[in-house]
Amino acid sequence: MPRAASELDADVVIVGAGPVGLTLANLLGPYGVSVTILERHKQTVVVPATGTATNSAAGAGEWAW
Ligand SMILES: Cc1cc2nc3c(=O)[nH]c(=O)nc-3n(C[C@H](O)[C@H](O)[C@H](O)COP(=O)(O)OP(=O)(O)OC[C@H]3O[C@@H](n4cnc5c(N)ncnc54)[C@H](O)[C@@H]3O)c2cc1C
Repeated sequence: MPRAASELDADVVIVGAGPVGLTLANLLGPYGVSVTILERHKQTVVVPATGTATNSAAGAGEWAW
């Protein structure tokens, strides 16, 4: 749900809801870190740009593909 900038209150602000930003938000969540993601577009993906994902591309942990 979009909020006004004056209403933002989070431990971490992530700029960009690409794979890196979304992955980071998911990794911080289990540690109780509140996250606000700022994305300039109304949707996270404008043009599909991933057909497959690898550990190196995702940049984090173990993935069950
Ligand atoms: C055609 C194409 C095909 C690809 N295929 C694959 C593939 O098959 N497998 C693979 O692993 N990778 C693939 N990639 C690469 C993959 O898309 C990128 O590695 C990945 O998207 C990078 O993620 P990112 O989060 O770093 O950046 P991005 O995906 O670029 O996300 C950054 C986000 O930040 C937002 N943003 C930027 N500046 C601001 C700002 N000032 N304020 C607010 N928001 C902002 C942008 O709108 C964007 O949503 C492909 C790329 C392309 C172009």
